[in-house]
Amino acid sequence: MRAALTALTDELRRLKAAGVKTVSVSDASVAALQRAVASRRSGMPVAASRPTEPTAAAAPGKKPAAAAGDFKPYEPPPPTIRRAATAAPVTSAPIPAPPVVQLPAGDKQTRWDALLSLVHNDPVCRAHVRPGKKVVLGVGNVNAQIMFVGEAPGAEEEVQGEPFVGPAGQLLTKMIQAMGLSRADVYIGNIMNWRPEMPVSGSGEQYGNRPPTEEEMRYCLPYLRAQIEVVNPALLVALGSTASQGLLGVGSFKALGDIRGRWAEFAGKPLMVTYHPSYILRNQSNRSKRMIWDDLLKVMERAALPISEKQKGFFLDR
Ligand code: URA
Repeated sequence: MRAALTALTDELRRLKAAGVKTVSVSDASVAALQRAVASRRSGMPVAASRPTEPTAAAAPGKKPAAAAGDFKPYEPPPPTIRRAATAAPVTSAPIPAPPVVQLPAGDKQTRWDALLSLVHNDPVCRAHVRPGKKVVLGVGNVNAQIMFVGEAPGAEEEVQGEPFVGPAGQLLTKMIQAMGLSRADVYIGNIMNWRPEMPVSGSGEQYGNRPPTEEEMRYCLPYLRAQIEVVNPALLVALGSTASQGLLGVGSFKALGDIRGRWAEFAGKPLMVTYHPSYILRNQSNRSKRMIWDDLLKVMERAALPISEKQKGFFLDR
């Protein structure tokens, strides 16, 4: 293990010398590294088996559900190495001009079904999805008042074909419940309809994630606009910096902290910008939770949802 760590350090030094500023590391690799480092400190051997990625299916049953408002993640402590902000895209197909989405007349469900079929059959989306994985459209109530907009499908989402079903999605569900709602009451979409590609391992599996490029977001945006048109929510909530840049324009703000908690506008709808649930997975302090919660309280207020004294006080014990 010592030799492997030394080789890794050498490779990172080599990349740094070559001008590489970020490297992308999967959760599984981070967990393996953390175990290796811990074992070096404790003198205990490292288990030989490869770590498994956290899965949505395995996790929820492991711990009792948290009380509403207590949106505690169920996964072990988050990795200290964060995912790359600028990993090079590994695209299997070029990105052409964005599609022009035309939906049939009809009721919301008819139009949404048509949109789902359009996205599933979009040759560009299909070309960017690995064999056996799925193109992902938003999900939820077509009459929702509130639409959450995330970044892109991850490992779990491209398997299930549904947004926010992995660890960040579990936490988003708890946040929604803390608002007194359920996933069935809201609509949850993403800027992207496919999982941005990264190099695959020997087994053909992609472990890491990267933020979508501007070009990728631009391509998928008409599909998000079409979802907004069909659902016609009263307001939108952008989750995280990438989603916010996808909606408001890349470079439209420097740091998410500068604009979060304020109302912006997208497609004629009020847009609340807040942190991505994965931020809380990495920063589990009550202060971080309260920041998102403050933003969600504003959303509840604007959506005229009832707010109890208890809800007002969530995470105030900083
Ligand atoms: N993160 C997102 O932004 N979207 C998903 O669907 C899952 C994780």
